[in-house]
Amino acid sequence: MKIYNTKTRSKEDFIPLEAGKLKLYACGPTVYNYFHIGNARAFIFFDVVRRYFEYLGYEVSYVQNITDIDDKIIEQAIAENKDFSQIAAYYADAFLEDSRRLGIKPPTVQPRATEVMQEIIALIKELEDKGFAYEVNGNVYFDTGVLDTYGSLSGKKIEEQLAGARVIENTEKKHPADFTLWKASKPGEPVWQSPWGEGRPGWHTECVVMSQQHLGRSFDIHGGGIDLVFPHHENENAQAMALSGKPLARYWMHNGFLNVDGDKMSKSLKNFFTARDILKEYPAEAIRFFFLSKHYRSPIDFSKELMTESHKAVQNLHSALALMDESAAPESTEHSEIQAIETKFRDGMNDDFNTAKAIASLFELASIIRNSKLETPLRQAAAKSLLELGSVLGFFQEELAPAETSLPDLSAYLIEMILRYRSEARANKDWALSDRIRDELKELGIEIKDSPEGTKWSINK
Ligand code: AMP
Ligand code: ZN
Repeated sequence: MKIYNTKTRSKEDFIPLEAGKLKLYACGPTVYNYFHIGNARAFIFFDVVRRYFEYLGYEVSYVQNITDIDDKIIEQAIAENKDFSQIAAYYADAFLEDSRRLGIKPPTVQPRATEVMQEIIALIKELEDKGFAYEVNGNVYFDTGVLDTYGSLSGKKIEEQLAGARVIENTEKKHPADFTLWKASKPGEPVWQSPWGEGRPGWHTECVVMSQQHLGRSFDIHGGGIDLVFPHHENENAQAMALSGKPLARYWMHNGFLNVDGDKMSKSLKNFFTARDILKEYPAEAIRFFFLSKHYRSPIDFSKELMTESHKAVQNLHSALALMDESAAPESTEHSEIQAIETKFRDGMNDDFNTAKAIASLFELASIIRNSKLETPLRQAAAKSLLELGSVLGFFQEELAPAETSLPDLSAYLIEMILRYRSEARANKDWALSDRIRDELKELGIEIKDSPEGTKWSINK
């Protein structure tokens, strides 16, 4: 398998630290608001990475943190006149609920920053003892000048990076790239006791502690959106390098942005749709399809037209699947056509998670299922394979699709099905049955009209 490693800017062969095991960390949300559909791209993509490794037989440990203490949470708490912990708890619950609705499998562990405060303090102390941190007025900074590998992840010159990241002027720091490990508290803010006085941790340290606690000092894959490469991931990695001389992760994977008219969808630009709102209009599988039909590193422009097309495309896969009882597929039968398609699926996924290629294989399976000229066991085997491979991308989960969005689609599908049977009756000149179907549909408020182009139907309001 090849994975594009942000660190080396090249596709590399994936070699796990421990055979048959994957240790994966992806940055989770800061919980001060409902997450938007751009964040959902990151969460869905790393869910697929996890699912694919599981499909390959790996034992996966997937850690995704929840940042439940941060300036933005405190600001939101002030705006809503609540305690920061109430805001964090409410939006953490909303995050878990919306992730579930998007068909994201719960990660193995979802630690929260406030639960590991003592470990965070211990890590900062260790950095200070090793000469990588300095304290000024109760603030503790990482001394980037002491670490000669600083900048090795993001690659570019630090000055360029800083210009891009708009780092706030701070006269306490020795160098503008030095970052906060511990922040002295201002009056009224939540505090924790520490060797440097009352305060709270910096975001970059939280992720190091939560990842290392569950995955070890160095693990396989660290992921997040491309905006996190600098400074967040650079600074996470700097702390790991300082502590052990080993990088935090071997492979760094970053998804591209979901854009709106060319700009990154973000809370600060206020050009976002929450995942919760989009889920009222489209089922989760349509959202997943929308993202997965493009390569994860390419930017995607948000478009309702594409979302509608994605919805139709997954319905197409579902309707193929509904034609065959996949559980009836004989266990032992091997079909070379199906195996070839499965190989194509894996080739796509093994090439740096080319999910678009993998999806093309799902449609090949669907066309085998639809082809009534082919023998039934082959079509059943295709259905079985479609179900299995589709699940790797998170499709066909029964618990998805809330009733209010799936039911009208199902009704349309059922009406079409009944009309197909009526056409068969008419072809057999069974006018009595054909009329009975028409009349019964009419009683349900469904009007049908026969025309040379076929039968049209409409709902009589
Ligand atoms: P945040 O809560 O802002 O830290 O974001 C959570 C995750 O969503 C991170 O991995 C971000 O990199 C990612 N993310 C944020 N905005 C976007 C976007 N517009 N498109 C894709 N990923 C994003
Ligand atoms: Zn992080």
